[in-house]
Amino acid sequence: SPKIIGLTGGIGSGKTTVAKFIEEFGFPVYYSDERAKDIVNENEALKSKIKELLGEEAYDENSFYNRKFVADKVFNNTDLLEQLNQIIHPVVRLDFQDWVKKQTKYLIFKETALLFELKLNRECYRSVLVTAEDNIRIKRVMDRDSKTYREVQSIMEKQMPEKDKIKLADCIIYNNTNLEDLKEHTEKVIFDIE
Ligand code: ATP
Repeated sequence: SPKIIGLTGGIGSGKTTVAKFIEEFGFPVYYSDERAKDIVNENEALKSKIKELLGEEAYDENSFYNRKFVADKVFNNTDLLEQLNQIIHPVVRLDFQDWVKKQTKYLIFKETALLFELKLNRECYRSVLVTAEDNIRIKRVMDRDSKTYREVQSIMEKQMPEKDKIKLADCIIYNNTNLEDLKEHTEKVIFDIE
């Protein structure tokens, strides 16, 4: 069976950019956070559970996940957020397992923002962390999402500290310069995994 490599990084670190490079190098990537967004619309049993937890308004009249409503509802309610995650995560986990079964490459990657927070690194052969200096990450997200410095900073402050992630990661890709360097670092790190 293939070796699963966990790929993670905080907001604006460049993990999605790295994931795209990895695909260019011929390795498949499972985008956990992207998949989770689709799964809340696809899985009927999951939809029922979410409505039970948050109310019918968690889905709109077209039976589409109401991200804004849910975000407002769990905002500053870590208990409820925790419960929501405990409903969603097992379903994503199963979806991932199905995906893994279909893969034929010897190395496959799982991109997820919460690799260490959810201790998913324990289920991976190796973990790869993409990191960059706070200021650089903030500027990149401000450009990408047209958020203010303060907004990005407050999201960042809620994430696991970078120094803790660095301690836990098997491999680290520093993304403080340009995309060309990033691609080169990525290539080096993935082909060095043994
Ligand atoms: P998030 O968790 O917020 O989704 P992410 O870790 O997936 O972020 P990316 O979306 O890959 O990060 O990168 C953030 C932004 O910074 C993107 O617009 C990306 O194009 C840009 N970016 C990433 N790395 C570099 C780089 N080395 N040079 C210039 N721009 C970069």
